[in-house]
Amino acid sequence: MKHFLSVQDMTAKDMIDLLEMAQSFREEEIRITKQVFAANLFFEPSTRTKSSFIIAEKKLGMESLEFNVESSSMKKGESLYDTAKTFEAIGANVLVVRHEADDWANELKDKIAIPIVNGGAGTKAHPTQSLLDADTIYQEFGTFENINIVIAGDIKHSRVAKSNAEMLTKLGANVYFTCAPDFQDKNLDYPYITMDEAVEIGDVLMLLRIQHERHNEFSSSTVNYHENFGLTIEREKRMKNHAIILHPGPVNRGVEIDSDLVECERSRIFKQMSNGVFVRMAVLTTQLLNWGIIDEYHIEKRNNNCRGQSVSNMRFAN
Ligand code: ASP
Repeated sequence: MKHFLSVQDMTAKDMIDLLEMAQSFREEEIRITKQVFAANLFFEPSTRTKSSFIIAEKKLGMESLEFNVESSSMKKGESLYDTAKTFEAIGANVLVVRHEADDWANELKDKIAIPIVNGGAGTKAHPTQSLLDADTIYQEFGTFENINIVIAGDIKHSRVAKSNAEMLTKLGANVYFTCAPDFQDKNLDYPYITMDEAVEIGDVLMLLRIQHERHNEFSSSTVNYHENFGLTIEREKRMKNHAIILHPGPVNRGVEIDSDLVECERSRIFKQMSNGVFVRMAVLTTQLLNWGIIDEYHIEKRNNNCRGQSVSNMRFAN
């Protein structure tokens, strides 16, 4: 069985299927009728990802298990593996995990017998973020073909940059990076352009926060960052008419983006957050179906008129 761990494991069809399922969830209330427990194991801070997983779980009728790293047995020296194994043993049906180690998934993936969903892996991967970004772009343009997407910021330390570049390329978009010299990642093979070029060619400008918590030393690139590498009011004026701004959050206003642009007309930053709930509902449901934890008869529309309609009759049957 396949966990939901990285973009590498997914085909473009898998991604489009999930986006279509997310769209179904936006249009109809869906509920899993079987008791299903989700454990949200977040070892790194999170506002949007953790909360939207919990809302996704609750909207589906699942039960979300509490886990707080500060009051957990991790404080007594328990490992990530033993924590995950414990939740499996006590009856969790799915694990959502975020951890600072790039490769935490390798430690778990062959030893845990319930689906694991990656909620963030160090500097390496954040596949549900990419899916919700893809969802937002697809809603806007209805295609990925010939869409220029510029990912701007701390490319080297950002898991969002890596998962997004891979997913959006697989979906057919043209992906570019722009960043301060210190933040380039030489292992990634995407064209680097300047921020001034980015605002001219981008249909989507995706801004990223400087990942200070992952820096080992002070970077001089962070000095005058906004003027040199950020989206200033002046640069925004040079963007294409239809171009949109994305940001996974948290936003550092006045650094990577001028504060007044966070909610400007072309910003889809809060739309991304709303989309995150539906995309995560789709990921959780797909995992539960693929692992045989639920079947199509455990999924009902909540609308009384069509109560009992099974998932197989719906657009996202797979
Ligand atoms: N929230 C995103 C992440 O978890 C982006 C960030 O923290 O800058 O990677």
